[in-house]
Amino acid sequence: MNRPAEQVRESYDVVIIGAGVIGAAAARALARYRLRLLLLDRESDVGSVTSAANSAIVHSGYDPTPGSLKAKMNVVGNRLFPELCRQLDVDLKMIGSLTLAIGDEQVPIIEELAGRAAQNGVPVEILNRDAVLQREPNLTPEVRSALFAPTAGIVNPFELTIALAENAVQNGATLRLNEEVTRISPRPDGSYTVMTGRGAYRALAVINAAGLHADTLANNALAELGRPADYKIRPRKGEYFVLDHFDPEFLHHTIFTVPTEKGKGILVSPTTHGNYLVGPSAEFTDRKDDFATTDETLAQVLASAQKLVPSIPTRQIIRQFAGLRAVEKRGEFVIDRPAPGLVNLLGIQSPGLTACFAIAEEAVELLREDIPLEENPDFNPVCRPRVRLHRMAPDERAKLAAEHPSFGRVVCRCEDVSEGEIVDAIRRPCGATTVDGIKKRTRPGFGKCQGGFCQPQVVKILARELGKKPEEILLKSQGTEILLEKIGGANGD
Ligand SMILES: Cc1cc2nc3c(=O)[nH]c(=O)nc-3n(C[C@H](O)[C@H](O)[C@H](O)COP(=O)(O)OP(=O)(O)OC[C@H]3O[C@@H](n4cnc5c(N)ncnc54)[C@H](O)[C@@H]3O)c2cc1C
Repeated sequence: MNRPAEQVRESYDVVIIGAGVIGAAAARALARYRLRLLLLDRESDVGSVTSAANSAIVHSGYDPTPGSLKAKMNVVGNRLFPELCRQLDVDLKMIGSLTLAIGDEQVPIIEELAGRAAQNGVPVEILNRDAVLQREPNLTPEVRSALFAPTAGIVNPFELTIALAENAVQNGATLRLNEEVTRISPRPDGSYTVMTGRGAYRALAVINAAGLHADTLANNALAELGRPADYKIRPRKGEYFVLDHFDPEFLHHTIFTVPTEKGKGILVSPTTHGNYLVGPSAEFTDRKDDFATTDETLAQVLASAQKLVPSIPTRQIIRQFAGLRAVEKRGEFVIDRPAPGLVNLLGIQSPGLTACFAIAEEAVELLREDIPLEENPDFNPVCRPRVRLHRMAPDERAKLAAEHPSFGRVVCRCEDVSEGEIVDAIRRPCGATTVDGIKKRTRPGFGKCQGGFCQPQVVKILARELGKKPEEILLKSQGTEILLEKIGGANGD
């Protein structure tokens, strides 16, 4: 409160800090009202941290403790998914999940989970061994029974965050990337100053959705208000393998182990693009930037996964990655309004992706007390559909290529992606500006060659579309230039 007044660059009704799936969903939910909105992220793209490194499961909600915020947000969020993904043109498949009892001793756990599901209002069915193996012949013969949750699904998590941010921008929100918030300071008039590396914004209200770093921002803001605050986020790392899309019949559902005290346990699941995901581990780390994988942990992940699906074809592994769960010390989602105009959406670990729409609605309700929420009659909930060449029939593709030749020029052969799709990903609102941004939106680099063949083409297209030199194109964040200098022939080719 005693700080000198900062020079305010712009004023907004709501500043949302963090453009992960939670901040983007909050921005989109608020865009339904006549509000000046600013969505800020310190990364070069939306959805670059936890929202880009998770299991991508739309959890049914049988697992969280009945009565908890996690359970409520999970179940409400799950129900909102089909309609909202349709509006946003996000890939979603409600394939259902099977949680396996391996060995007789796990059978009572399945029964207990079914009881929890009933308390949470989640439809489930207990299947016997034969019924499980009939659905999924590649499961271990040791399976005794399974909890079938038909309302579980898989989503493309990259598309989800990008589409939420895109729809917010389309409806008038301002998005600023590469801009780190350093402080949220209360002003004498009850509004806030949001300080970033580039200046100060005045906001009537602030939503703190800064993921792993939301605790620091919240604690500092409350300290300035002279209030006690003790939010504490400790990252819990999850390491994964990704398998190529080798056989669409290998698995049809998401397969879970029974949950442990560390979380939902290991899963093996198809992804919306037909790859398979194996993981995650669950070990605490003290660093919020520790995304390294280790051979030791991955070996444990594989061994646990093979207890569910013994024939996982390890030769199909094309990638490993790790994500960090933002575990708040109370182990629960924190959705609160510790001061007028200040809303925290922190500690949003799993099932945060599933809960994003429900959490966003909670944020709107919390702000209702602080800002006038007048409906925006021009709000358009729909994102323009994306072209997905790999799903089109040959005659449809030929027709599109005849009308727009760039859709006939395939850039990524592993994932079957055309130049036209890449150009669209750059030109859309909240468009890609980096190689990683193209990868998240249209998939070049996700395939077997991991970008080995298509990356130079992607760099060229980005440079052309953005009016930059190829040497200026970044892989991801600042300092990740791909090309250092021009060498070669007299023409510089
Ligand atoms: C291993 C793992 C598996 C998971 N599996 C699932 C699952 O299957 N289903 C499910 O429902 N959920 C799952 N989750 C949980 C889900 O991924 C998260 O709940 C969700 O992504 C959290 O989103 P977020 O927006 O809070 O965080 P983030 O995506 O991390 O976004 C926070 C954003 O804030 C930005 N930021 C941070 N500090 C600042 C600052 N000072 N200034 C500006 N910007 C800042 C960051 O750059 C980041 O973009 C999983 C999580 C993990 C780690």
